[in-house]
Amino acid sequence: MPHDTAPRSARTVAVGIPTPEVLALLPLPVEMTDLQQQGRICVYGRKALSTEAAVDLGERRRDGVLVFPRACQPCVSRAAMSVLLDHSSGPDACTECKREPICEFGRALNRVIRMGQR
Ligand SMILES: [Zn+2]
Ligand SMILES: [Zn+2]
Repeated sequence: MPHDTAPRSARTVAVGIPTPEVLALLPLPVEMTDLQQQGRICVYGRKALSTEAAVDLGERRRDGVLVFPRACQPCVSRAAMSVLLDHSSGPDACTECKREPICEFGRALNRVIRMGQR
């Protein structure tokens, strides 16, 4: 039933925080090589990236310079996991996410973490 599936998938995409917005929030290493700034190798692990395997972390501004960081999926998972850990533990922890990620941000992070575990 094509009439049913189209609106339903559109609604799923609209729920919560879009993945690109979460990716744009992941912290980058303090030191980045030129190749990393250009998104030609993984920004976290220096691994060469093929176009399909690369995750775009969004354009960022670094010391007034525009950089285009990309990363491999395992590194993206790891970065998202540490953001989730900060989000859900410690004195400023999100009260909704202490047991499992359930606020919109926690759920979006969880989605990004699972991206690398396909
Ligand atoms: Zn990597
Ligand atoms: Zn939360």
